[in-house]
Amino acid sequence: MRGVLIDSCEVVVTMDDAGTEIAGGSLLLEEGVVAWIGTGEPPHWPDGVERVDGRGTVALPGLVNTHHHLYQTLTRARAQDQGLFGWLRELYPVWARLDEEWERAAAAVGLAELALSGCTTTIDHHYVFPPGVPGLLEAEIDAAVEIGVRFHPSRGSMDLSEKDGGLPPDSVVQDADTALAETEDAVRRFHDPAPGAMLRVAVAPCSPFSASDRLMRESAELARRLGVRLHTHIAETLDEEAFCTETFGRRPLELLEDQGWLGPDVWLAHCVHLGDKDVRRMAETGTGTAWCPSSNLRLGSGIAPAGALLEAGAPVGLGVDGSASNESGDMLAEVRMALLAARGPVGRPDGDPGAMSAREALRVATRGGAACLGRDDVGSLEPGKRADVALFSVHDLSHAGAEVDPVAAVVLCGPARPRHLLVEGRPVVRDGRLAAADEEDIAAEGHRAARRIAAGAAR
Ligand SMILES: [Zn+2]
Repeated sequence: MRGVLIDSCEVVVTMDDAGTEIAGGSLLLEEGVVAWIGTGEPPHWPDGVERVDGRGTVALPGLVNTHHHLYQTLTRARAQDQGLFGWLRELYPVWARLDEEWERAAAAVGLAELALSGCTTTIDHHYVFPPGVPGLLEAEIDAAVEIGVRFHPSRGSMDLSEKDGGLPPDSVVQDADTALAETEDAVRRFHDPAPGAMLRVAVAPCSPFSASDRLMRESAELARRLGVRLHTHIAETLDEEAFCTETFGRRPLELLEDQGWLGPDVWLAHCVHLGDKDVRRMAETGTGTAWCPSSNLRLGSGIAPAGALLEAGAPVGLGVDGSASNESGDMLAEVRMALLAARGPVGRPDGDPGAMSAREALRVATRGGAACLGRDDVGSLEPGKRADVALFSVHDLSHAGAEVDPVAAVVLCGPARPRHLLVEGRPVVRDGRLAAADEEDIAAEGHRAARRIAAGAAR
């Protein structure tokens, strides 16, 4: 029997329904799940238990990232002053050269960044499948297995190119039949529905301006037939709203509802431009939001009404989004950004300092993310939940002076690397370094692949 005792933390934040925090708390992890949480000695000792010194740290449930495009990690700092459509038009031709080597290097960099910011579960929304390029999903799954994070590689698709009135060039789309067949194949090969699964696949056509009405409708039918979740981008910018109104005669969320999309098995990236009625429909249908405040601010898209969605009872999680529209895959930085963005002038002339607390932002990044991904086995530290734990030091330089509230300090004084990160009770980060992979090798390979891309030499 394999066990880990995380001993004498400054605070254990359970993120249970009551918001229980245990000062001086310890955690016993056994066989991949939380076996016990409390103070003092655990009620039993598994054979060969490993002790992890929790002193000076805040223990959190591992953070859950609900939106990302790992391949974009190697195309950062481009189209720096563009909005979404201009940014996409500049980047699509670069992404058209995507190959397996690029995907592997980008996924390793992106997943390492996530792990080194406290993230234990992440999706990847991968929707660029240039014809004749094999092995892309496989490459990112390999990287996730090596680093040790829980991974939801969502199989995206695009079939609406410029010649059909869409935004992407012809070279990066597939026809709908191929996209649907390959999506079904990815689910059958990689999706694990079992509790505690390390690998799950969602069906994820890209957006209303890059996926046809048929692909959107049949993707929803496919996901429901296979019993997996549905994901896409929606209501990101006013350009998109104008496109939907002109092309389909409906605003973005109305279009999605008409296509059979809203429901408790769906989570949607961005949701920046939602009206009051849209917010109510998200809550009534149990549809989740992957809130990406850094990316939305970087592209000048606006600030999503996350507070209104939460108040209405809709699930809200956090996403770092593809690192070409954020330039960072730091999940703890995104928690801090969420708090700041929520306090900004959202639907009012001034800001609101009471709009979101540090603990509320952490809850969005843990329980909220787990709800978006349809997982009731992660997102909190409770007996029987998976042993996914992030330990952040609060005794270091950047937290000096915040002794009055170490939990809030993790958000307000951040971001910082976790001292330790465990997934299924296994070390993914140890003493601030990747435990199973080499950070310098990943960085060197990322720079090498990115130079090849910048030189136009990929593929
Ligand atoms: Zn995205």
